[in-house]
Amino acid sequence: MNTPKDAAARRAIKPVICYPVDTLPVPDMAAYQNARAKMTKVDEVLVPPRDAGCFTVPAGHFFRIVSVEGAQVGDLNLWARDNLAERFYSGKTRALHGTHITTGQRMWTSFPYLRPMATITHDTLGWYGKDEFGGSVHDVIGTRCDPYTHHLLAGGQYHHCCHSNLTRALANHLGVPVAEAEPHVHDVLNVFMCTGFTRDTGQYFMKASPVRPGDYLEFYAEIDLLGALSACPGGDCSAEHSSDAAACYPLLVEIYAPEAGHMDAMTAPHVSGYDRSHG
Ligand SMILES: [Zn+2]
Repeated sequence: MNTPKDAAARRAIKPVICYPVDTLPVPDMAAYQNARAKMTKVDEVLVPPRDAGCFTVPAGHFFRIVSVEGAQVGDLNLWARDNLAERFYSGKTRALHGTHITTGQRMWTSFPYLRPMATITHDTLGWYGKDEFGGSVHDVIGTRCDPYTHHLLAGGQYHHCCHSNLTRALANHLGVPVAEAEPHVHDVLNVFMCTGFTRDTGQYFMKASPVRPGDYLEFYAEIDLLGALSACPGGDCSAEHSSDAAACYPLLVEIYAPEAGHMDAMTAPHVSGYDRSHG
């Protein structure tokens, strides 16, 4: 290997944050906390293990993803309810907030919209922080388990990866064939999943989720949302996914309405102000 003489000096250069977030609009967490203290559950969807379900959340409502029965990871897709072209952008959310997200951070939408679609308002796993392996929960680094990668690495036809579960759920919700629904499925927020990158090889790792029944991740819907949640065939993702080997449990989605008048002052975030002329 041709290591240059100044290799150590080059490596010693200090990193700078790609996207300093000092100029990001700050969510009004006090308003959210006020509203969530007086909200009422208006709907729920139970997502069966190794399957997915869809739900809608009006702007100004809250929703929770709740662990029930056993440790289980969920793969979440979100779209603007009336325009599926505007959807969760995992990569840019990662660039803005880092590899894992928690209370006070947001899920951002795709170009050319780039606006917050959901703000995390409570995370019962917020205590986890980062463990000794560099692992943390609720990542925006994984994609979703899918039958194509599974086929590439192991062969076979497995139909209950999150990608397929989300595709079937969306097809059912929209009343369209799976081929029409599939292109709308995108990289997820890995709810409750505990992941990181190994220090030596930089590989994506997972480990048993610290989630326990009763834990939940709660969001405020900044815009009208359509969601799809898959209860990953990996269960707590302690060993493997893309198979029926792991113990799997359902996940509960709960929708909450704030007390009348509580979130009235909040307006939906504007789409990006970039003029799209591209010079
Ligand atoms: Zn999965």
